[in-house]
Amino acid sequence: MTNATNTQKSKPMDMDKLVSLAKRRGFLFQSSEIYGGQNGFWDYGPLGVELKRNIKNAWWQDMVSAHDDLSTLSGAPAPFQMTGIDSTIILHPQVWKASGHYDLFHDFMVDCRQSKKRYRYDQIVGRYVSYNEQTVFITTESSAAAEAEIEEKALQFFKLKSKHREKITYEGGIVNLTTIAQKENIVAPHAKEAGTLTEPREFNLMFKTTVGALSGEEGTAFLRPETAQGIFINFKNVVDSSRVRVPFGIAQIGKSFRNEITPRNFTFRSREFEQMEIEFFCHPDQSADWYAFWRQRRFAWYQRLGLSQERLIMREHEADELSHYSTGTADIEYAFPFLPEGEYGELEGIAHRGDFDLRSHMEGKLDPNSNPLEVEKGEDGKPRHRGSGKDLTYRDEVTNEKFLPHVIEPSAGADRATLAFLCEAYDEDTQPDEKGKPQTRTVMRFHPRIAPIKAAIFPLVKKDGMPEIAKELYRTLKKKMNVFYDEKGAVGRRYRRQDEAGTPYCITIDGQTLTDQTVTIRDRDTLEQYRIKIDNCAAEITGKIEG
Ligand code: ATP
Repeated sequence: MTNATNTQKSKPMDMDKLVSLAKRRGFLFQSSEIYGGQNGFWDYGPLGVELKRNIKNAWWQDMVSAHDDLSTLSGAPAPFQMTGIDSTIILHPQVWKASGHYDLFHDFMVDCRQSKKRYRYDQIVGRYVSYNEQTVFITTESSAAAEAEIEEKALQFFKLKSKHREKITYEGGIVNLTTIAQKENIVAPHAKEAGTLTEPREFNLMFKTTVGALSGEEGTAFLRPETAQGIFINFKNVVDSSRVRVPFGIAQIGKSFRNEITPRNFTFRSREFEQMEIEFFCHPDQSADWYAFWRQRRFAWYQRLGLSQERLIMREHEADELSHYSTGTADIEYAFPFLPEGEYGELEGIAHRGDFDLRSHMEGKLDPNSNPLEVEKGEDGKPRHRGSGKDLTYRDEVTNEKFLPHVIEPSAGADRATLAFLCEAYDEDTQPDEKGKPQTRTVMRFHPRIAPIKAAIFPLVKKDGMPEIAKELYRTLKKKMNVFYDEKGAVGRRYRRQDEAGTPYCITIDGQTLTDQTVTIRDRDTLEQYRIKIDNCAAEITGKIEG
């Protein structure tokens, strides 16, 4: 999560209201809720699964299935091909050795002996605070409201009343715990005394499992922490089987798992989540241009589906943040409402990865008798990547040039995108009810393309043949899109229920339908109502969704 100086659109949205709507209307549930819940795991309910699937389908369609291989897209250096795969979640353990995840994919954690809480070491911030000749380093996990929290904690720690605030002195500003040399007298974020934090310990984020009946290290395998590696190890298979030519991309959508130390912020940081990743293979000479193209293309995609420009930023990584092999990485970040003003959370990273991944999977054959998970260090003392030993270079059939392609990786999270679209969609306005009294209306303003239900069909009343006509229309439309039939309660109430579900159009069959075969279409956002012929409904709604 980062701070940025951009002015962001202030969206008066209470996250608690969204969380409660998400549960009440069946977007998201805590996993295993009846057993007390499982932290970091979330289930999608009937509306949520449609929303997330629509987002994944939009991504797949825009990036892969509807991609035009023959034309040059705006901003692209050349035409390119796109293709997809679906690899397994459990891969050969050596994949993670070669990719560096086995040795390097870890966070440092610290435990508090008093509160029994566990923290990510790099997420704790604090400040030196003194009173009456005692100096302690008071900490908090909340980087945004750190100053205020530390002041309150200092009062509690020194057992002072608020009116004596000014007796406390502060040295230096708020700094990360990792940056201070003196590790004594630290007051942990939820501790009452100093000195209760353990030493930081390395914690690999990959979930371990055992394959087959073997016990011990031989059977050890991992749930993938990213979908990308499944693409790299299939690079040769795709080239050989589908006759793609560089430049081309391979896309994959699938589950990834990370044993996050502190899952938080609804689904933002989960332990099981879905990724939508592209590995785009190009000639090294053109890779800078492709990197620029993908950054812009992916940024525009979120906007087209409804994320407002004011709440989205593209953040270029600083040189010291870049992996050693990357010449550029940018994150697309969104001003999630649960973050403090000015902070943004990552939706997608776009990285220029050079030839690092293909090279890692290619170089250095593993001794068949050695344990693939043994840490082997090179002369520089760093863990050595031990690839398959297979030749993964590419030979261009037209130019006959042989080279190792460079890779641009747009890597997005389906759950984070879903959460961003949920946050963006949530709105409240005031509308008169049937008696003309102003009422607060909760409305989810999803882009029609990702809305879980595209249209709701109502008979105005349950008589005069209206339900029969409405049901027939429902059956016709249902073959083409997800529509909903509702005949219960006053029409105003039915509209409200659909507004909360984010349904962009409601179609009502009324008395006039019986005489002239027209229906009313009501627009969720403009509240405009207009009549069209019942036979034109499918074309009308399809046009609006696609338009
Ligand atoms: P972060 O810094 O937030 O942990 P990351 O930089 O480790 O994210 P990547 O490894 O680049 O993330 O993964 C690509 C995308 O996968 C992220 O942009 C995000 O959308 C998604 N993602 C990563 N970790 C999680 C998680 N724990 N829960 C949900 N989505 C995630």
